[in-house]
Amino acid sequence: MTTLALKYRPRLLADLVGQEVGAKALNNALLRAKASDGRISHQAFLFAGVRGTGKTSTARILARALNCAQGPTPTPCGVCDPCKASEQPDQNLDIVEIDAASRASVEDARALREQVHTRPAFCRYRVYIIDEVHMLSRQAFDALLKILEEPPPHAVFVLATTEFQDVPDTIKSRVQIFPFRLIPVGLIEKRLQHVCDSEGIPAEPGSLRLVAEAGQGSMRDALTTLDRVISAGDGKVLESMVREQLGIVPAVRVKGVLESMLAGDAPSIIDHCDALASLGADWANFWRELILAFRDHLESVTRSGAPPHEALRFSRMLSLLLQRERDLRDSSLPQVVVELALLTVAQLPHLTPLDDLLRSGQTPSSVPAAKTPVSVAANSQAIQGQPHPYVPPAPPPHKAQTFSPPPKPAPPTLPQKPPSAAPSPEKEKDELIRQEPLLKRLLEDTSGEIVEIRKT
Ligand SMILES: [Zn+2]
Repeated sequence: MTTLALKYRPRLLADLVGQEVGAKALNNALLRAKASDGRISHQAFLFAGVRGTGKTSTARILARALNCAQGPTPTPCGVCDPCKASEQPDQNLDIVEIDAASRASVEDARALREQVHTRPAFCRYRVYIIDEVHMLSRQAFDALLKILEEPPPHAVFVLATTEFQDVPDTIKSRVQIFPFRLIPVGLIEKRLQHVCDSEGIPAEPGSLRLVAEAGQGSMRDALTTLDRVISAGDGKVLESMVREQLGIVPAVRVKGVLESMLAGDAPSIIDHCDALASLGADWANFWRELILAFRDHLESVTRSGAPPHEALRFSRMLSLLLQRERDLRDSSLPQVVVELALLTVAQLPHLTPLDDLLRSGQTPSSVPAAKTPVSVAANSQAIQGQPHPYVPPAPPPHKAQTFSPPPKPAPPTLPQKPPSAAPSPEKEKDELIRQEPLLKRLLEDTSGEIVEIRKT
């Protein structure tokens, strides 16, 4: 059975999706070659980019375009012998595909050096496509370099790599480099729609978008996923099936978590997380969905003309969510990471900036007990979603002594100074940070501005 990825593999430069710049450059190179007796000006190319972006397909298209009886031409006829032979590269002597991962030794490179002098069997050029070229050994690269320095006129080399930085500079300086960028989601979605239309497969609105996003810039991955969801959906593309197949959390759940987070509703956040755990959610996928949903929210807030500080606050919340993405990947307890991050972020809108607090002349020890903001220690508890009882704000005396400068007597609580002798807010902020290591940590966690939670 032919897979969709194989069936809809691009066969012309014009079919390439998302690589317009490279396709245009190759198109021009082929036109120039046609105008100059079939001689192509560059004989070595390096296609660099993540997997599934069309590197090998483009290499085959180039081989076909160079060898077509009507060519070299950007639009090979598809009916001449070289064109037909290019459909089966494994049976075509003039298209040599080499997997550098399995033929990385210097002996392989030397064998290639001898082989390149053999003239093409029946085509204009013999095209060598070396996939994952970064896997070659140092000696193999040296041997390849010698070939590239003086290639025989009938040989064209297309090197492909997913690890551009691992290709030696000496090689890079002798090839024409074509970066293959990640394919935008919109273009993948459009191509998937075209495939479904051509195959007569009905697709629910929004379902192809999810498949396209799951491809993460790779058309091949997206088409492979489409194959899977079509099989699972009995010949249809259903959104529920796509979500199930890809482990994507239902959109309504993501919306629920987002609303609870924006409302600062900690119990609801915990309930949502429990529900997601019982659904067997893929936490990494959920986090991605949540970040995208939050990003959309931030966009609508910004576009609706919200005041700058409001947009800034949402930006900080989003930034904190992004920072926790790596923790999520590294953790063996992803649910705990998700809950902790959500509860922290949910508290941000209810915090008072330290600068505002200092400007108003309040410090943890200067505010009457009934109205005293919860201390930093309580802050940490609150951030973890636990009820935060009132905790006396004064740090233990020995702690204050430890962190105070020697000549200055360390008071058990923050010093109260007459207004005339009061230090600047910046100085007081620094002093406060120095005395409270927890505060320092919290500042780091909340992008440096927000340190106080008020009891409501
Ligand atoms: Zn042809």
